[in-house]
Amino acid sequence: MTGIELGGQAALTHTIENYPGFPDGVGGAELGELFQKQAERFGAKVEFETANSVDLSVRPFKVNGDSGEYLADTLIVGTGARPNHLEIPGEYELTGKGVSYCATCDGWFFKDKKVVVVGGGDSALEEGLFLTRFATSVTIIHRRDSLRAGKVLQHRAFSNPKVDFIWNSLVTEVIGTDKVTAVKITNLDSGLESEVPTDGVFIFIGHTPNTQMFKGQLDMDDLGYITANHLMETNVPGVFVAGEVADSHFRQVVTSAGMGAAAAIQATHFLEKETVNA
Ligand code: NAP
Repeated sequence: MTGIELGGQAALTHTIENYPGFPDGVGGAELGELFQKQAERFGAKVEFETANSVDLSVRPFKVNGDSGEYLADTLIVGTGARPNHLEIPGEYELTGKGVSYCATCDGWFFKDKKVVVVGGGDSALEEGLFLTRFATSVTIIHRRDSLRAGKVLQHRAFSNPKVDFIWNSLVTEVIGTDKVTAVKITNLDSGLESEVPTDGVFIFIGHTPNTQMFKGQLDMDDLGYITANHLMETNVPGVFVAGEVADSHFRQVVTSAGMGAAAAIQATHFLEKETVNA
């Protein structure tokens, strides 16, 4: 089951530059279609359907989709995570036209341009520092006067000449018609509004894993990511995980695909063992 659109966050990425085998990069949506075609060649049946609830208490496991119930002897959960949004005017309209949630995916498009980064955590600083490879300047806009990010990243950001900070400020609007030209900000101390001209807005204010329907059934960490061992096994025998739903760290298509391959191998072993023992 793919959800209503194939490819998740990757499908929203214009070009994926770091997936092996594509020296010139590959479109996120195109890569999703290639994955589908390849899986179908080996007999996979793809359903464009949203899973609404699961029952993992007995086998076969039950997955309830919009058009009915699916039964599964084994299950691989790859429901991913979604970047948190600011929910401000212009953000949605200009996504892919200067607004991005992934520096690794989109940084290259901002070569010799100015960008702003929103957030004050590890992601904001790490991705902001990554963007200095391409951009002429990276302005980090944070809503407080101190960073949540670790000290090492803070030190690297403070000592990078391309990085500057705007403190105690909220981004309230992304401005532009066909592409981003500026962001509107409000200083939380003075209440004063101003505009910061920019070519790009990278938003790193946390991710939310899509794990709501597994709560109370699969073990999760404090942030709601499903916990699994190195064999991709969850606390429920026969249920495996792959990708960002169990990985708040790497968040790359290539690492998720690797986890998916490992989970598929383990799911196959799980079923084979049962057949032998039957
Ligand atoms: P995070 O630690 O939750 O930080 C989110 C940041 O966004 C915070 O600074 C927060 O501000 C700000 N924020 C949240 N909502 C906002 C809003 N509506 N408007 C403006 N700002 C907002 O998220 P993260 O940086 O993605 O990190 C997630 C986890 O992954 C963390 O455990 C982190 O340590 C880990 N991580 C580690 C590394 C690394 O070790 N290299 C790299 C990336 C991520 P406040 O500070 O005011 O709350």
